[in-house]
Amino acid sequence: MATKILKFGGSSVGTPESISKVIEIFSHRDRYPDGCVKAVVVSAFQGVTDTLISLATCAASGDDSYRARLESLETRHLEGVTALIPAVNRSSTLASTKVLVNELSDVLQGVLLIGECTPRTMDLVMSFGERLSALVVSESCLARGISCELLDTRPLIRTNESFGSALLKKEETYQSISNYFQTHPLLQIATGFIASTHSGATSTLGRGGSDYTASILGAALAVDEVEIWTDVDGMLTCDPRKVPKAFPIPSVTVEEAMELCHFGAKVIYPPTMQPAVDAGIPLIIKNTFNPSAPGTRIVSEAVEHEFDITGISSISDVALLRIQGSGMVGVAGVAMRFFKALAANRISVILITQASSEHTICCAIDPRSTASAQACVQDEFGLEMAAGLIAPLVVEGNLAIVSVVGERMRQTPGISGRIFTALGANGINVAAIAQGSSELNISAVVPKNDEAKALNALHDEFFISSSKTLNVWIAGTGLIGSTLLRQIQEQG
Ligand code: ADP
Ligand code: ASP
Ligand code: MG
Repeated sequence: MATKILKFGGSSVGTPESISKVIEIFSHRDRYPDGCVKAVVVSAFQGVTDTLISLATCAASGDDSYRARLESLETRHLEGVTALIPAVNRSSTLASTKVLVNELSDVLQGVLLIGECTPRTMDLVMSFGERLSALVVSESCLARGISCELLDTRPLIRTNESFGSALLKKEETYQSISNYFQTHPLLQIATGFIASTHSGATSTLGRGGSDYTASILGAALAVDEVEIWTDVDGMLTCDPRKVPKAFPIPSVTVEEAMELCHFGAKVIYPPTMQPAVDAGIPLIIKNTFNPSAPGTRIVSEAVEHEFDITGISSISDVALLRIQGSGMVGVAGVAMRFFKALAANRISVILITQASSEHTICCAIDPRSTASAQACVQDEFGLEMAAGLIAPLVVEGNLAIVSVVGERMRQTPGISGRIFTALGANGINVAAIAQGSSELNISAVVPKNDEAKALNALHDEFFISSSKTLNVWIAGTGLIGSTLLRQIQEQG
């Protein structure tokens, strides 16, 4: 019998109705014979992690108005318990929920008094989201006669102390997971996202990290598949909120999924893929609200596809840094110094381009880091700048990156031509271009206001060649205008 780990994201556990759906899915014996599912990993209820962060930030600023919002958070969970668990066996779950919320309230009171929330405390605050949701889901299962146990994953998943996005200590973690499951044969309803350090402090695996938890459990237990259940029919050709015509991709390679997620497709958290891939376990993305849809398989070997590319993704807000000057031509080490200065200031570089003339180096970063980038580049190249050999750093904001991703681009000539023709034909100016040497990804930096237009234009070009989107503006609805509108409606 194939064994599995299932993960249900916040979007699947947003309301009591969706939690019922989730339980129906994983307890369906035709789909999952007895003993097939080793653990069900759950995220915090939809939006709860964001709320917890905002409560802690509010408390740290000395504002006690967070208390009213903490109360609504408590009400939301208590209402969930009331809706999901019949009155006869509800009271202990209501009590356990209140105990957790009281503990959270104490932590927030501490944050208010101290007037600061360190990353370590923030991780503790965030952990309540998953602890509450796993409690509600496991108790709801028990109330339905499904035998299971609540698993707080913190003692099993060990990380370093980089709170906020801690690094996994793989060997220790896999050993503890394997030991634990040997003595706990029941279905485990496990908290996603949270872990602990060697001193027992609560840490988290980075936003979106419940996917990662599922993959870690899967690899440690050598299951056959890890299923990530969310609110869309799999990984789509583009972000459906930006491109309404996006459709599911039946299978993607790990490298393609990594590229798509790195450039903004948040349907799966990028580090998730590593443990599963290392262990040769396929990941499958499925839709809680449409379980019969086949979903997307993330696999190691490329599979035949009818399109030249696999998907398109984007990052909505980036800034471009450009360093240029005659003092850079033929001088070894300029690029190294530029990127080292950025790295020393923890500024992460999203994309890099360098002209072969070596006259300019250009890179894209998170716009929130532009001030510190300017300061550190000025420090590093102060002498060359004073001598006029290198010009002051140029910073351009209000930009977005759109990335076309696919293994088959390597063998298909003319892809870049089609990308730039499609962007040009839609009047979109390209500020910089980068192509990974693996030829898996071609990225273009475009004005932020043109992001959606660029995505739709590229999506039409590569996936919907038989129809084209045409934007029409009509000013005035007199006799001619209103007749035209009526005709369009009639012929729609
Ligand atoms: P969950 O709460 O299940 O973890 P997320 O909100 O983290 O779900 O991720 C799912 C969302 O990712 C979808 O609702 C969709 O709007 C968004 N998304 C962005 N890009 C893509 C893409 N290429 N394919 C699928 N979903 C995408
Ligand atoms: N609840 C966490 C978050 O919102 C983890 C997750 O949902 O995967 O980031
Ligand atoms: Mg997610």
